[in-house]
Amino acid sequence: MAAATLGEVPTKAFDTILTLDFGSQYTHLITRRLRELNILSEMLPCTTKIADLDYKPKGVILSGGPYSVYEEGAPHVDPAVFELGVPILGICYGMQEIAWRASPENVIAGVHREYGHSNLKALKGDDAHVDRLFAGLEDSMRVWMSHGDKLGALPEGFHTVAVSDNSEYAAIAHKTKPIYGLQFHPEVTHSQNGTQLLKNFAVGICGCAQNWTMARFLDQEIARIRDLVGPEGQVLGAVSGGVDSTVAAKLMKEAIGDRFWAVLVNNGVMRLDECEQVERDLKQHLGINLTVVDASKDFLEGLKGLHDPEQKRKFIGGKFIDVFEAEAEKIEKAAEQSGKGTKIGFFLQGTLYPDVIESLSFKGPSATIKTHHNVGGLPERMTNGQGLQLIEPLRSLYKDEVRELGRTLGIHEELVMRHPFPGPGIAVRILGEVTEEKVRIARQADHIFISEIRKAGLYDQISQAYAAVDPSRAVGVMGDKRVYGYIIILRAVTTTDFMTAEAFNFPWEFLQRVMNRIVNEVNGVCRVTYDITSKPPGTIELE
Ligand code: GLN
Repeated sequence: MAAATLGEVPTKAFDTILTLDFGSQYTHLITRRLRELNILSEMLPCTTKIADLDYKPKGVILSGGPYSVYEEGAPHVDPAVFELGVPILGICYGMQEIAWRASPENVIAGVHREYGHSNLKALKGDDAHVDRLFAGLEDSMRVWMSHGDKLGALPEGFHTVAVSDNSEYAAIAHKTKPIYGLQFHPEVTHSQNGTQLLKNFAVGICGCAQNWTMARFLDQEIARIRDLVGPEGQVLGAVSGGVDSTVAAKLMKEAIGDRFWAVLVNNGVMRLDECEQVERDLKQHLGINLTVVDASKDFLEGLKGLHDPEQKRKFIGGKFIDVFEAEAEKIEKAAEQSGKGTKIGFFLQGTLYPDVIESLSFKGPSATIKTHHNVGGLPERMTNGQGLQLIEPLRSLYKDEVRELGRTLGIHEELVMRHPFPGPGIAVRILGEVTEEKVRIARQADHIFISEIRKAGLYDQISQAYAAVDPSRAVGVMGDKRVYGYIIILRAVTTTDFMTAEAFNFPWEFLQRVMNRIVNEVNGVCRVTYDITSKPPGTIELE
């Protein structure tokens, strides 16, 4: 992968810890923990050539990984990393890599796998190096281990700086150079004071300034965008009312004003009054140059007769491209004639760091590294870099950083904390065929559910919540009369990464209140159920 694509993390503007990934499931936690400490960390694959870096990191962390360093084909770091002259911290596989480099005999297969908690004892007191690594920490602490291999001997020039129940070499340090190895994982929350340890490395040893804040990021990103787009360039982008696209749009507005053109497509399957709300938020409150295209009739017409979830998604995705492209052409003309700048040369996209990490993480010696992630089915010419150049200002940020950036940009809390909403909207929250009646029912029921959640002060404790419509109908009795109505499925989950999720544990009275309001206020509904399925096996959306 060329250095050019690595450059978007603002490594030149902030002190940066480079985390080289050997494929551990925990690697991204290293970058997270450091960023929580206001230190920028960039993750790159372990195969990265140090000569390709266009900056000098303040320190390097070698992550854990599923391989055994002595195995044939096991990944190894570019030896140039040791020539950089910056501190190095190896974690688990990373430490084994440091020891193996000194001499392959240093790493052996352990007799017992060690997985879980272990008691660590730091051998403090006789070495300034050790004291800097363990500064502010107790001599003994509980740490999290996950390994099968171990050091059989110390690499030359190193000494042991901590031991555990099972490892004589739970932590090692070079006697004169700032090179350290940990057999345990400080990045997982199970390791007591693990964050302090990472801070000791990044701040105490590498000398990083803790200045990775969204206010500073904003300043540098605005400067970068202005530089990239130039004084005349114009940018086009799609917005949905979601957090990412709104924050990206507001950032563009701050950087280049009305030379950023946002388009919102009303696909007929947005939530109750959502289109109007998004228009108010973006245009009036945030001052974004927004065009709304009402294509709701076309979408609803085209959805008729489609029962299969994949067909529905495909139709909505395809139609979106058609509508967006048609509008883009008009906007491109308008932009050209507006006198605001030259013709549109850029396309804004709200890609986040987890997508980038996913495409950069090390998948093994034989696996090809994915370079192109899903770009949400947007028009080819807009994303292949040939027509319009992509601009992705959130590419180096995690979701919570995007929210913080949103606050810094003055976007109101309710919008900043919004739950994610799928592109195909409530069409995937209506099982089977989408009809106008079912859209009305889903909207009303969802509106009641979400407003009750807000009223109860639970919104921010829940990651995603909605009401769905089950098209099979059930019998009920209302006012002594038999009714035959749809079933509403309520869903609310908590999750940190959307990969796994649990159903939210509502108080019983809350569910009863919501049920009551829905059956009374939404015509055509006679039953309400709460979906308690976790993910896996259930997905968060129903279709
Ligand atoms: N695969 C190596 C081992 O089992 C490293 C494990 C790790 O980095 N978590 O020891």
